[in-house]
Amino acid sequence: MVLPIEIHDFLTIHFDTGLNGVDPVMGGCINSAARFTAHNKQYFIKWNKESDFPKMLDTEYRGLELIQAVNVIRVPEVILNKEINGYSFLVLEFIQHSYPNDEFWREFGIQVGLLHQNRTEKFGLEQGNYIGSLNQSNKQALDWSSFFIEQRILPQLELTGLLFDASDHRRFQRMFKELNSIFPPCKPSLLHGDLWNGNFIVGRDRTPYLIDPSVYYGHREMELAFTRLFGGFDLLFYKSYQSINQLEKGFSSRIDIYNLYPLLVHANLFGGGYFQQIRQIIKKF
Ligand code: ADP
Repeated sequence: MVLPIEIHDFLTIHFDTGLNGVDPVMGGCINSAARFTAHNKQYFIKWNKESDFPKMLDTEYRGLELIQAVNVIRVPEVILNKEINGYSFLVLEFIQHSYPNDEFWREFGIQVGLLHQNRTEKFGLEQGNYIGSLNQSNKQALDWSSFFIEQRILPQLELTGLLFDASDHRRFQRMFKELNSIFPPCKPSLLHGDLWNGNFIVGRDRTPYLIDPSVYYGHREMELAFTRLFGGFDLLFYKSYQSINQLEKGFSSRIDIYNLYPLLVHANLFGGGYFQQIRQIIKKF
C-alpha cells in the first residue's frame, strides 16, 4: 500500500468512494507524496510524521493560502490539511506537468513581479515556518539588514557548530557592519521564500504554479538571487520581471551576499562543498 493505512481509510470515507490509481510521486526532498483519483478527479497528497517535522505541512498550507489570497500567481488548490494518528497530510489539486516555453517564462516573470508588489511594513511573518527540513524563524523587524542578520544568517551559523573557525566568524561580523550600505532600501515584499527550479510547476496550458513555499516578507532581491543559485530560470523570466519591477543598480554584485542564507541552509543539510562556497564569499570582508 502506497499510503499509510490511516490516511487511506480517512480518504475513502472523506471522498465516499474507493481511491483509484494511487501511485507514488517522486522528486520531493522531505515528505512522502502520491497521486490518486477519486470521483474521476486527480489529487496530489503529501504526508509526514507530525513528530518528525511539527507543523511543517500546516505552515506550508498557510503559505499557499497567503500566496493564493493575493491572486496574482496560481498555487494548487488546497483540498485538505489534516492530522490523523500522528500523520500530517495535505491533499492538493493535482497539477498536470508540462514543459516551459517562452510564453511561460514571460508570464512567470510578470507574476512573480506582481507577487513582490504585495508590500507591508515589517520584514518577516507572524509565524515561523520551514526552509527545507530546518526551522525558519520569521520574527518581524523594521529593517532588512537586521532581519537578514538575526533571522536568516545567525540561526544557520549557529547550526554549523564548529565548522567555521574564529577568523570566518570575524569576517561574518565585519560583513554584518557593512550590510546597511550594501542592501538598497526597499519595502518588505511577499516572497515565495524558496524559489528554485523544483518549486514551481509548468501547468498543462503553460500556467505557472508555485508549490512548497517558505513565505515571508523580505527584500525582493533575496528571491531573485536564490533563483540564480542553482540556475534553470530562463533570461526571459528576469526580463519580464524587470519590466514591472526595476532592480536597483548593482544587483549582480549583491547576489552572493543574499545567497549566503540558502548556502548556509544547504551546508547544514548536506555539508560538503557548500562550506567552501561560503568561505569564498565572506573572504573579502
Ligand atoms: P517536498 O516538500 O517533499 O520537497 P514537493 O512539494 O516539492 O515535496 O513535491 C514533490 C514532487 O511532487 C515534486 O516533483 C513536485 O513537482 C510534485 N508536486 C508537488 N505538488 C504537486 C501538485 N499539486 N500536483 C502535481 N505534482 C505536484
